[in-house]
Amino acid sequence: MHDYTRKTLFIDGRWVTPSAGDVIDVVDPATEKVIGCVPNGTVADVDAAVDAARRAFDPLITRAERRDRLARVIAAMEKRLPDIAETISREMGAPLRIAQGVQTKVPLAVARGFADVLESFEFEERVGNSLVLREPYGVVGAITPWNYPLYQVVAKVLPAIAAGCTVVLKPSNEAPLSVFEFIEAVEEAGLPDGVVNLVSGRGSVVGERIASHPDVDVVSFTGSTAVGRRVAELAAGSVKKVALELGGKSANVILDGGDLTTAVKVGVGNAFLNGGQTCMAWTRMLVPRSRYDEALELIDAAAAKYTVGEPSDPGTRIGPLASAAQFESVRGFIDRARRDGARLLTGGSEPVRDSGYYVAPTVFADVDPDSELGQEEVFGPVLAVIPFQDADDALRIANGTPYGLSGAVWGPDLDTAIAFARRVQTGQLDVNGGMYNPVAPFGGYKKSGVGRELGRAGFEEFLQTKSLQLPS
Ligand code: NAP
Repeated sequence: MHDYTRKTLFIDGRWVTPSAGDVIDVVDPATEKVIGCVPNGTVADVDAAVDAARRAFDPLITRAERRDRLARVIAAMEKRLPDIAETISREMGAPLRIAQGVQTKVPLAVARGFADVLESFEFEERVGNSLVLREPYGVVGAITPWNYPLYQVVAKVLPAIAAGCTVVLKPSNEAPLSVFEFIEAVEEAGLPDGVVNLVSGRGSVVGERIASHPDVDVVSFTGSTAVGRRVAELAAGSVKKVALELGGKSANVILDGGDLTTAVKVGVGNAFLNGGQTCMAWTRMLVPRSRYDEALELIDAAAAKYTVGEPSDPGTRIGPLASAAQFESVRGFIDRARRDGARLLTGGSEPVRDSGYYVAPTVFADVDPDSELGQEEVFGPVLAVIPFQDADDALRIANGTPYGLSGAVWGPDLDTAIAFARRVQTGQLDVNGGMYNPVAPFGGYKKSGVGRELGRAGFEEFLQTKSLQLPS
């Protein structure tokens, strides 16, 4: 049975009463009803958590101790995944199928990836007369969003543990309940007190204190570009390391001669995954003008398969958007795109149901690459289709936003597709149907972020480097 009324924070190995009494309600976006609450943490709560994390930090931690901590957390988390999936579906509206799949299976794969990295990682290396040491960085402040609540937490907390760091975590207020369930797994894993601490609360209070706290050594943030900029500004005050995973406006580029049918099918699925609330979603589909009409027919047919419905219904492919704010924001983007002259192919801003934050999967054709819809992240099920003349034109459009997080290219052959991919300014790109890899470096170019998550690169973000010059 889920306990969605959370009144305590996890600090120094115990569930403790926060320093102030109020709570933040959590709303089920399918019903618009309150289903639970979490403590509205304060600066004093963050300070207590950072103190505990500092006391728990041991820079000389062994590989065996790291391995043991990681293995115990992964085992305890794995047991809880069915419950966590149900909670994610309730708190942010992901179809249960998606919650049981990508929302929980990918974090498990990501977590295991860190265990593998830890096994073979060389913490010491000889470089000439120097012994170069890789040491745990210290206290990590982790601030996460709501769209993949478990994944975002796992991508920060697990590599931090593997590196030997200690953590103060602040989840998003829109989807904190699954994170509390993850922390119960951490508790069951029996890590030393203070290694992982949880402080829920407002970004403007808890998040800002974590980012500016003088005793936090690294702040690892995932969320919007606007808040990421603020976090970096605050972190600069104490010169701490900052890792930012931010927004995207990724292009799915279908070159002339590419497999149009597959590219459209996969591309529409990618754009609408998790109701379009995916930072790496391919929200712009770039199609050769010579095949534009054919592509639009295929896109229309593919989009029609994305049935909107209740998250618990097994036939649902798109649930409600995660919150009232997201609902209003996405509808605003749709209305403005129409006013900007984009051609609505399917969908629209009208509410799909009487209650719940449901928006129809929406496709716009003839989108001006420089318009708001061509440039800005919507974070909803809205696909912009943009025609191009030739490969140079496609590259100019693909690179023509402030972002560079993800994307895809479909070429007539692998060499042509890779040659194009080399010129795209983005952190990752799926080439001719290549699949997402949970241990490949993940992160952004340009305003999509700084640093990398996942696999070895994500692990190394939490390591400091020390050179000892030895006598010859
Ligand atoms: P958000 O509004 O930026 O919030 C992210 C986190 O930051 C939340 O925990 C939020 O707390 C906190 N926060 C808000 N204001 C803060 C402040 N002044 N100082 C410190 N922390 C603060 O983003 P979101 O709406 O949750 O998530 C959607 C965005 O995340 C999209 O732009 C998406 O592209 C991006 N994203 C990026 C990636 C990636 O890996 N690149 C992955 C997923 C999502 P509250 O809950 O109190 O607001």
